[in-house]
Formats: sequence, structure tokens, C-alpha cells
Amino acid sequence: MVDRAESRKLEHDIRHALLHDGFALAFQPRYLLSTRQPIGAEALIRWPHRKRGLVSPALFIPVAEQSGLINDIGGWVLRQACREAARWPSPAGISVNVSARQLLDGVLIDQVTEALALSSLDPERLELEVTETVLLDISPDVLLTLAALNDIGVGLAIDDFGVGYTSLATLKRLPFTTMKIDRSMVRALPRDREDAAIVCSLIAIAQALGLGVLAEGIETPEQENFLIDVGCESGQGFLFSHALSAEDIATCLTRPRPA
Ligand code: C2E
Ligand code: MG
Ligand code: MG
Repeated sequence: MVDRAESRKLEHDIRHALLHDGFALAFQPRYLLSTRQPIGAEALIRWPHRKRGLVSPALFIPVAEQSGLINDIGGWVLRQACREAARWPSPAGISVNVSARQLLDGVLIDQVTEALALSSLDPERLELEVTETVLLDISPDVLLTLAALNDIGVGLAIDDFGVGYTSLATLKRLPFTTMKIDRSMVRALPRDREDAAIVCSLIAIAQALGLGVLAEGIETPEQENFLIDVGCESGQGFLFSHALSAEDIATCLTRPRPA
């Protein structure tokens, strides 16, 4: 956490970055595990700061959420991500992280519609990632937004699944299309028998509910092999690739990952 003075400075700098093209996107590819084929990428925001160097999203996203600036950042990320993805070989998809605040403030539908219209990207190629915390206290308005996004064909993923408190009843009730297994669950695979058992159950739940499954944070061939054996369809992580620039991801998505 940052103190109030620091938080105010960061807010000031975020406003400046928004006005002066100070943010960038990086793209981490994701693959079908069985075939090594790329299926798309996750957009991850980067902030190269003049004095601070590269500022971690873990530091500035919470500040942006508190101040409401996340809505401007989120709109920019969606427009930029859809614009890049429209240049990728179809049907490669783009996943965009959205903040709970964009959902709660009711701005998300307009932002998504605008980004899709400006880029002419097929809505089926866009997926929004929301973290489990969004689902703790779900209002009728948020439910309507999720349903409307689902209606226009946009995918909905639960990010970092396995660390929060989503009840299975909630999971069943909401129009999610993908479960992203958090990297904290993947880290100790396959050695840690409890984590291995939990990951197997999460995959079984996802399959029972008709959700796609993607494991994040895959760093070793042993983790990958275990995930393939227990039926996990897709994954991303440093074993395959770090997040890449817009130029590099466009090339990366044209070919399978080397064996
Ligand atoms: P996330 O959505 O769970 O993103 C995955 C994070 O894990 C990324 O960190 C990525 O670089 C990192 N990662 C990927 N593969 C591996 C791996 O194999 N090992 C390890 N140790 N880490 C891996 P990053 O880019 O620092 O992002 C951190 C978080 O910031 C994201 O977590 C997401 O919650 C948030 N974030 C990033 N971009 C945006 C954005 O555009 N909007 C919003 N609202 N949040 C964002
Ligand atoms: Mg994510
Ligand atoms: Mg995640």
C-alpha cells in the first residue's frame, strides 16, 4: 500500500500519462496445451515512468481504482487492445483485464461497444477478465451488464480463480465462459498433493459448468505436463512467453510454439 501523499503524486502522474500517451500495452500469448497452437493473448498494461522506471500495475491500479481514474485507463486499454487484436490472424482472441469499478460505475458496456466499433473486431474475439472480488457482492445492475456483454458475444473470464471466495452457486448463475486458474495454485504443481487435488477439482467444476479452463503462471514443463494430464485445455506463463510488444505478438500468433 502507498500512503496518501504518495497516492496523490501517483494520481497526478496517472492523469499526465493519460493525456500524454504515457501508457503502453504488452501482450502475453496463450496456447492450447495439447497442440501448442496460439489462441490469443492477454493485454497487460505497462507504465514506463520518466523518473520511477516501469511502475507495476499492482502499485498503480489500486490508486487508479480509488480515484476513479481506472475508468479512463480501462477505456483506453479496451480501445487499444481491440485495435491491436483486429490486426491478428483470426480467430486469435484478446483478453482484457477490467476493474470491478468499471462494472460498478456502469461504464463498461459503453466502453466495450465503442472499442469494438472503432476496431471492427468481432465481439467473439474479445474476452473480459474480472477477478473474483467482483463477485462477492453482485448487484442487479452488474448482473444486467454481464448478461448484456454475453448477449453481444463477448467472452467473460473469472481471473485468479482459486484464491477468492466465489461460491459454486454464483458461478452457476453468472454468464462466465472461462475459468482462469490462479498462478498460486499452479506454482507448486505437481509436487504439492493438495494443490494438485484442488486444481483437478477446479477443472472438473469448470467442465461440469461448461466453462473453458486456462491455467496461468505456467513456468515449468512438469507443470505443463501435469495440467495436460488432468484435462486443462489452455495456458499461459513464462515457460511459453513473457508479455510481448505489439509488433512481436502479431508474429508470435502466426505459428505454433516450438516443441
Ligand atoms: P493478472 O491479470 O492475473 O495478470 C497476470 C500477471 O501474471 C501479469 O503481471 C503477468 O506478467 C504475470 N505472469 C504471467 N505469466 C507468469 C508466470 O509464468 N510467472 C509469474 N510469476 N508471473 C506471470 P502484471 O502484468 O504485473 O499484472 C499484474 C496484475 O495487474 C494483473 O494480474 C491484473 O490484475 C492487473 N492488470 C494488468 N493490466 C491491467 C489492465 O489493463 N487493467 C486492469 N484493471 N488491471 C490490469
Ligand atoms: Mg488477467
Ligand atoms: Mg490472473
